[in-house]
Amino acid sequence: MIGSYITRAMSSDGSARLFFTDSTEIVQKAHEIHGTSKTMTAALGRVLTATSLMGCMLKDKGNSLTLQFKGDGPAGSVVGVSDYAGNVRGYAQNPAVELPPNSHGKLDVGGAIGSGSFYVSKDMGTGEPYTGLCNIVSGEIAEDITEYFAVSEQTPTVCALGVKCDLLNNCIAAGGFILQLMPGTDERTVDILEANILNMKQSVSAIVAEYGEKAALHVLESVFKGIEYQVFDEFDTEYRCTCSRKAYEKALISLGKKELQEMIDEGKPIEMTCRFCVRRESFTPDELTGMLKKL
Ligand SMILES: [Zn+2]
Repeated sequence: MIGSYITRAMSSDGSARLFFTDSTEIVQKAHEIHGTSKTMTAALGRVLTATSLMGCMLKDKGNSLTLQFKGDGPAGSVVGVSDYAGNVRGYAQNPAVELPPNSHGKLDVGGAIGSGSFYVSKDMGTGEPYTGLCNIVSGEIAEDITEYFAVSEQTPTVCALGVKCDLLNNCIAAGGFILQLMPGTDERTVDILEANILNMKQSVSAIVAEYGEKAALHVLESVFKGIEYQVFDEFDTEYRCTCSRKAYEKALISLGKKELQEMIDEGKPIEMTCRFCVRRESFTPDELTGMLKKL
């Protein structure tokens, strides 16, 4: 399997931009880490795919974007975090939830997410993250992202996301795209884009499954049919956790003297697990005593 990647392109007149990703490897990695059911591979996979595409809209290295769905469905919270280069990590509160297919015979992501709200939080390194709150439209994720861009960023957007699993629950194809109109878009271009989107009969995961390495080209040529465009970059992305033993230490120290002393008094090592990559770190009472001394 080729790795995940993002391709970014723009119409030559500057009217519209298109970000496409094949996120198959990222979604499969998430499934392996979290042991997600088929429905939850699709739910978390779509969230991670969207987060990755939105993350690479950030301006600077060090910026990050968090997308968090907090619906009342059985999935609980579903979270994705991306760096400015589209590398993502994430988790779902209830990764094993499985639901029967919806009325269209598809994985019932909307049913798993439920209704309520979702957040988009951008950390620009200034200390105070910018957070936008939106109502969940359908819980199918793509429609929700479209709504977010329309309401919170006043940017007309088309978002498509898809995850395909095999019988063993492995992700065999995942991807998505975000098409956005830029300020002052030519009316004629809008009409062509709308017609092109309507003419796309295949889902984005079906395109990734069928076209493989040529999926980006196929999406670009379908969306920009009759419109001149340029690809401005293409880069690899991956499921990437940023946790470290140092970060755990910091978290423990931040609990304060009293809590640390209580842990030491228990005389047992403290186990901590990363929510994003389920890596475990253990700290002995001696190590905790060392931290206490630093306070
Ligand atoms: Zn981790």
